Formats: sequence, C-alpha cells, structure tokens
Amino acid sequence: MLDEKEVEKSYEDACITLDLVENFSGLVIDKLKGWANKEIFDGGLEVEIPLNDAVNAGAVSFPDNPKKAKIIITMGMLFEIYRDSMVFPIYAEKLKRDTDTFSDHLWRRFDSVPFKFAGGVPDLEDNELTAIGQLLVSAWKSANTKMAGVNEEREQMLSRSLACRFQMFEFMIAWVFFHELSHIVQCHYKLKPGQNGNGELYELNSDSLGSYSSQAREILADIEGLDLTLRYLSREGVYNYKSFYFMLCAQTCMFNRFYSGKYDENYFSVKTTHPHPVARYEFVCHYFSSRLNNEVPLVFNDEYRMQKVIEIVYITTKSSIVSNLFWANRHESYEGGELTSFMKVQKKSETFVGKLYQKTIERNINSQLPTILENHLYSDSDMFNLESMGILRKN
Ligand SMILES: [Zn+2]
Repeated sequence: MLDEKEVEKSYEDACITLDLVENFSGLVIDKLKGWANKEIFDGGLEVEIPLNDAVNAGAVSFPDNPKKAKIIITMGMLFEIYRDSMVFPIYAEKLKRDTDTFSDHLWRRFDSVPFKFAGGVPDLEDNELTAIGQLLVSAWKSANTKMAGVNEEREQMLSRSLACRFQMFEFMIAWVFFHELSHIVQCHYKLKPGQNGNGELYELNSDSLGSYSSQAREILADIEGLDLTLRYLSREGVYNYKSFYFMLCAQTCMFNRFYSGKYDENYFSVKTTHPHPVARYEFVCHYFSSRLNNEVPLVFNDEYRMQKVIEIVYITTKSSIVSNLFWANRHESYEGGELTSFMKVQKKSETFVGKLYQKTIERNINSQLPTILENHLYSDSDMFNLESMGILRKN
C-alpha cells in the first residue's frame, strides 16, 4: 500500500506530460489569440511557445507595423502553471484538514457574504465552468475512471478538485497572455530608452537594469492584463465571485513564483526592470477592488455598497491567504506558525517607505500615460478610464 505522499507523487507524475500540457494550453491560447487577432491585430498576432524548461514569457512589437506582434510563452512556464493548478486544490484541502486557517471564528465577520465557502476552494458545478473548463473536466473524467492505490474519499476529493484545477489553469494562462498583450497594445517600446529595431521585452531577464519608469510599465501591463482577463471571464459567461477567486489565486501564485528566490524582503528594490512582486500584487488588488466597487450602480444605498465592499474584501483576503500558504508549503521550507515571507513583505507595504514607493510608481505611471494613450492599439481599453476610476492619484 502506498503512503499518501507517494500516491500524490505518482498521481502528479502520471498527470503531467508534455502532450497534455501542450494540448490543454493550446486550447486556451488559440482562443485568446483568436480574440486578439479579431479585435486588434487583423490576424497579425503570433504566439510562439519555445520548447524549453525556462519559466519565462515575452512580447515583441514591430514598430514598422503595429498590426504585427508576437507573444512568447515558454513551455516551462505552461508546465509550471499546470503543476501549480493541479496541486493547488489538494493543498487547499490539506490546509482545511491540518490547520485552523478556515476556523469559523476567524471568518465570522464575513457571515453576510452569500458566496462564503468553508474550505480553501469553492465547489464548482459543471455549468459554472467556462466552455474549455467543461470540455477538459469531462475529457479527464472519461479518461481516468479509477486510480489504483487511492481510497474512495480521496478519489472524490481529487474529482472535485478537477474543476478548480482547470479553471485556475485557464485563468492563469489568460492573465500571462494578456499581460504580454498589454505591453504590445500600450506600445511600451516607444517608452524604452535606446530602443532599436523590434521592441522585445522579457519578464525574467536578470541582465537588464531597471528603473522606476520600467517598473511603472510593468504595473500598467499587470492592470490592463487583469482588465482583459476580467473581460474574458465575462465573454465566457463566468463573470462571478467564484471565478474571481480562482483568478486572484492564480495571480497570487504567479507573484509568489516571481518573488521566490529572486527578491528579498526589501520592498522597494529599483535595480530590476520589474517591481517587487508584492508591489505588483498590491497594485492589481487595488485595481480589482476599485473596479468592482465602481460597478455597483450609483442608485444603490450605502448599506448595499458596504455589503459589496465586504464581499470584495472577503474574496481578496481569502485568495491571498490561501495562495500564499499554498506557495510557502509547497515550494518553500515553511514550518507554519508565522507569516510566509511574501506576507511579511505585504505588511511592509503599509509602512512609510512602502507608501513612498507606491507614490513614486504612480508618478511614473502618470508621466508615461499620455504617450501610452496616444499610441494605444485597443480603443476600448480600460486604460482610458484609470483616472476617472480613481485608480491613480494626482501627484
Ligand atoms: Zn511584463
């Protein structure tokens, strides 16, 4: 009889093959590319998936022809996205079983939230999934009727986690794709000093020196990436809190991935092209909350509006705690009983230096925004509304 860890490992190894990740991600990427080509590029956008295990993504603009562009996402990135999505619901279940993270008394102040759920992930019915989610779940179920060495309770749990896995996988790919697309539609190459020839930007590039202005552009790509992902959820008919939860979990995992081993607990490092991942998290979370808040029609009274605020706080708080604990337990030597390293940095964002850093980035966003809006390739972009939404303060 295999022990639990061995069962999990054999399940994980058996589940992840190159073909599988390639086929599953291909469905999502083709759909996203199809939309972008129809709406923006008239067929000129290409997506390249290099077959190497480096975890990276990039965007290429062609200054001579704005209707031509390329997004690069490595197979290593897709592989790791799949691996995280696959084990996330299992770890979330473990948190429920082994810790008091979800104890009732800790979450009582959210009792009025209609979609409050007890464990680490909400249950998803088939009709709450995207079309790709439904397809993948039913294909998976029919191909894997029973697993050897797994008891019935565990099999049920694994089966329930399938829906979560595929939604998280789809939303994580969508956000990575749309982040890269945002670099292109915002024509960031025009703001990059000394840019010659094709504007090529990579996410993980340890050689290049950064500045506050390059960090501000990353924040803008994060924000527009999130806007485009939310629109994708809407087109797919799943614009609801369960989807938001998985999308936020996917993003928090990605920011933990960018953080782990590459940044320290110093909040405002300027040496890199990309901001500290905690800063990125704070900005996208602020955008998400403001956007949802702005969607509440003005005719509703203060009580209704406050209820919406509680719901937004619930979804952002819970996704952050669960994803941070997932990451630390799975990828770091985290013993529990204290904040994870990522969470410790999150606390620093409330300090004087944290606020000062955010103001510096906002100033660099404001100074680049006119050029971005003047050249923007997508006329329906939410970037045109940032100021009126109150996302940016006047500096
Ligand atoms: Zn970027």
